[in-house]
Amino acid sequence: MSRIDGRKNDAIRPVKITRDFTKNADGSVLIEMGETKVICTAAIEDRVPHFLKNSGKGWITAEYGMLPGSTQTRKVRESSRGKVDGRTQEIQRLIGRALRSIVDLGAVGERTIWIDCDVIQADGGTRTASITGAFVALVDAFYKLKEKGQIEKLPIKSMVSAISVGIVEGEHMLDLCYQEDSNAKVDMNIIMTDKKQFVEVQGTGEEAPYSYEDLMEMLRLGEIGNQELIRHQKEALGTIADEIGL
Ligand code: UDP
Repeated sequence: MSRIDGRKNDAIRPVKITRDFTKNADGSVLIEMGETKVICTAAIEDRVPHFLKNSGKGWITAEYGMLPGSTQTRKVRESSRGKVDGRTQEIQRLIGRALRSIVDLGAVGERTIWIDCDVIQADGGTRTASITGAFVALVDAFYKLKEKGQIEKLPIKSMVSAISVGIVEGEHMLDLCYQEDSNAKVDMNIIMTDKKQFVEVQGTGEEAPYSYEDLMEMLRLGEIGNQELIRHQKEALGTIADEIGL
């Protein structure tokens, strides 16, 4: 079976990472994965949630949203409904966990980094694009803190990126677009570090339970995709990546 956009099953969509996309946040990135586009910002606040007061440690938290015009059918603004739906909660927690896993929170000091991921165009893989883009925004925010002399070195232990994989019409595929995602029997999100370690794997075979062999094949594809994303992140960060030893 050939894919809609002619990609090989183990190929990711064209990736573009634009830094300094907007000017007010400490880090601001537009990430494009094919037709999926997400703005990821990182803003630093000099206080921490209650449970971390006087601990000397920092915190990273994330919010995620889809603009009404980002989806094929208009997405009602969550603010106008007065509550955040389950999918949004799951995604923002996932983004927060992914980024906290690679940061030395003890070295951040009592600061909170607010990550905001806003989907301006959705075509599958918005949570994974959010994580990949947010990592770059986070590095930029920490770098600013370092330039101001507020931290000595960037409190980053590894790089992190994320990609989706799935089984569509019996074939294992990397980086699903919306049409593939909506036909997928198995849908998985794989979050990994540059050292090829797993941070989180979300894999649902609700429609069709999958085998051990399927799982191994999807993990293999996920590693290929994430390694490529890490290359794009490094390229986008340019000299900063070298300077901080990424
Ligand atoms: N989608 C949509 N409206 C929604 C949720 C999802 O149009 O309320 C589309 C969108 O293109 C999204 C895709 O369905 O990227 C897959 O959604 P999923 O919940 O699997 O999350 P994602 O793959 O974006 O992380």
